[in-house]
Amino acid sequence: MKRFGLIAGLLVIAFGAVWIFGQRWIGERVFERVVEQRAGVDRTAEFADGLHVYVCGSGSPMTDAQRAGPCLAVLAGRDGYIFDVGSGSVRKLGAMGFPMDRLDATFLTHLHSDHLDGLGELMLQAWMAGGRSEPLPIYGPEGTDRVVDGFMQAYEIDRGYRIAHHGPEVARPTGFGGVASNIDAGFMLENGDLKIRSMSVDHAPVDNALAFRLDYKGRSVVISGDLKYSEEFARFSQGADVILHEALNPEMVGKLGATLAARGNIDAAKIMADIPDYHTSPEDAARVAQLAEAKVLVLYHLVPAPPVRLIESVFLGDAGEQFDGRLELAEDGMLISLPAGSEQVEFDQLL
Ligand SMILES: [Zn+2]
Ligand SMILES: [Zn+2]
Repeated sequence: MKRFGLIAGLLVIAFGAVWIFGQRWIGERVFERVVEQRAGVDRTAEFADGLHVYVCGSGSPMTDAQRAGPCLAVLAGRDGYIFDVGSGSVRKLGAMGFPMDRLDATFLTHLHSDHLDGLGELMLQAWMAGGRSEPLPIYGPEGTDRVVDGFMQAYEIDRGYRIAHHGPEVARPTGFGGVASNIDAGFMLENGDLKIRSMSVDHAPVDNALAFRLDYKGRSVVISGDLKYSEEFARFSQGADVILHEALNPEMVGKLGATLAARGNIDAAKIMADIPDYHTSPEDAARVAQLAEAKVLVLYHLVPAPPVRLIESVFLGDAGEQFDGRLELAEDGMLISLPAGSEQVEFDQLL
């Protein structure tokens, strides 16, 4: 009997060892495979020439485990541009394989914190992962220079550590940070076949809020930033292939506010009551897309973001009846491709 117990014990130990070390062996093979497939690979190598929009953040200031703060990145041909950089969005860009080494410039639609609270991380990644030897150009409304200066000051100590650790040949001291340009409505950036234009939008009490339009080889994308319903914005978006428009559902926000108030959370209820008046409802965003005769409308900066598919139809309300084109809700990790020389708008999910 004693002998049987000893054999059983040895067997348990043997199986345990095989399980533990076997699991590690399998894990090592899987890790090697992932590294082989991903590390240093240009995931845009097969992209067609055209515009490619990365949804790096479809959320809002509301906390959300699935959605980073507002962020849209666009590849126009080979060159990259980022529009707003909400918290968590730079990690999404990395996971989506956005080519940080081809980032030309970043734009801020306005200076609400949810649109720029990832800027420090972006400047760091543009410098280190992007291998920059010049600071990142950052365009935004008046005050952008102060915001960029503040982030650079916050990262100054880290800058020293990186240069000391990796050496100035890798962490090029001249590539750190950003160089800000305060811009107005009517701003235009031209780079080869690409034109980026801005218009001023109403997001009062925010003094200066901008929307952006990109035109490249006959394809076009418009990014609303935050704004009230605007027919002027519809004219700015005329004939666009894709409008990325912010959206807030006032009934859902109202319901949230009423519940918070009933539970005595008066400050949060007041915020819920305040925010609908400087955003656009899904129905109104759809009206804008219809007026603009756009092909596709993608709603982002979703307030409140539908946590599951079932609630998406509640969020959209009657938006689908206002717009003849294709209507989508943005999700983090979404890639929207507009190949040059075609009418196609293709959707892919990278995360
Ligand atoms: Zn916002
Ligand atoms: Zn805002």
